[in-house]
Amino acid sequence: MNHSVFRDLVPSYIENLTSEETNRQIEKHLEQCESCRKYLHDMQEDLLLDSLHEQKNEKRNIDFLKKVRAKNRKKIFITIGFLLSIFIGCFFLFTSMWIADEKDVQTTIQQQGTTVTLSFQTKNNNRYLLAMEQWNQNYIDEIIIYEKWNDFSEPARLFKDGSHVTFTFLDENTLLLYGGEEKKLTDEDKIHIRYKNSTEEIRLKDLYKPVNK
Ligand SMILES: [Zn+2]
Repeated sequence: MNHSVFRDLVPSYIENLTSEETNRQIEKHLEQCESCRKYLHDMQEDLLLDSLHEQKNEKRNIDFLKKVRAKNRKKIFITIGFLLSIFIGCFFLFTSMWIADEKDVQTTIQQQGTTVTLSFQTKNNNRYLLAMEQWNQNYIDEIIIYEKWNDFSEPARLFKDGSHVTFTFLDENTLLLYGGEEKKLTDEDKIHIRYKNSTEEIRLKDLYKPVNK
């Protein structure tokens, strides 16, 4: 066996793909030839390094995937926590609120220029009111008055001097809508203020007193 045949056979030999007869010849040649011994040795070393390298890369890929998964898990937990806290917040806001009794509510109507403000204030200590505006297309036609415990939460301080609803008039027969449109008022245009057992009706026209020029 000469060197070049030996070297052609080395890859197969390392992988145990060569026949017994070939193996015998290869080993015979190895005994005689130092350069081929070295060649075989180098080849084996290269293959070993390659496989080590591959294992390392695989491990690195797995570590990377683990990190990505851990990060995603953290993100999901944060998102769930965030949604849960909103849900709990809303739950407490709405379960700790009830529609107010009319006799507990002090209503004031104030006009400043062409702006009329309805203010609702509770007569009870340690409570505050929330005036929920209900929209009929583009103007408020119903206000539901909710009462709530003053539990030192943020809204309590916000509504310390009452909950307000504002209307802007152009004149005694025209309401300026939020979209900038105008609404001609008839006697039929009313706002309904809803309390626990009663509803107060106010004609929109009656809210506004013409300004004397
Ligand atoms: Zn040789």
